[in-house]
Amino acid sequence: MPDKKDRFKMLLKEKGLKVTTQRVDILEALEMRPDKHLTAEEIYEIVKEKNPDIGLATVYRTIQLLAELNLIDKLNLGDGYVRYEIGNMDEEKKAHHHHHLICLSCGNVLTFQGDLLDNLENQIQKSMGFEVVDHEVKMYGYCKDCAAERKKE
Ligand SMILES: [Zn+2]
Ligand SMILES: [Zn+2]
Ligand SMILES: [Zn+2]
Repeated sequence: MPDKKDRFKMLLKEKGLKVTTQRVDILEALEMRPDKHLTAEEIYEIVKEKNPDIGLATVYRTIQLLAELNLIDKLNLGDGYVRYEIGNMDEEKKAHHHHHLICLSCGNVLTFQGDLLDNLENQIQKSMGFEVVDHEVKMYGYCKDCAAERKKE
């Protein structure tokens, strides 16, 4: 398996960016926590452990840049924070990794792997002539624990 770091370095080069430690570190921080949906501040805390000299402003700027190039995805999960996750780095595959399930009671965000929307996309293409290239799904409801709690009440 190619080293993750090397892959990030290649991607940055492909996008015409200089390879810098903070860029690689931010990608790595997100890659290692695919289900965490980190805020910029949380990313900063993680990256700072390895690079004590890094500033929050640099982290913000780097995140913006990486998001513009789709190396990371910006998320709004309805809790008032802007969150980030690693983007789909595989250009061949359709940009996709998981769907978000948001608990209205405890606020937890669960992820659902797998995609059952191919049919819907085909239908849209057929009936509207609209070529779908990506989608984002947020399901609102109650997680298992909260659903059980609610039944008790
Ligand atoms: Zn996610
Ligand atoms: Zn819950
Ligand atoms: Zn999907």
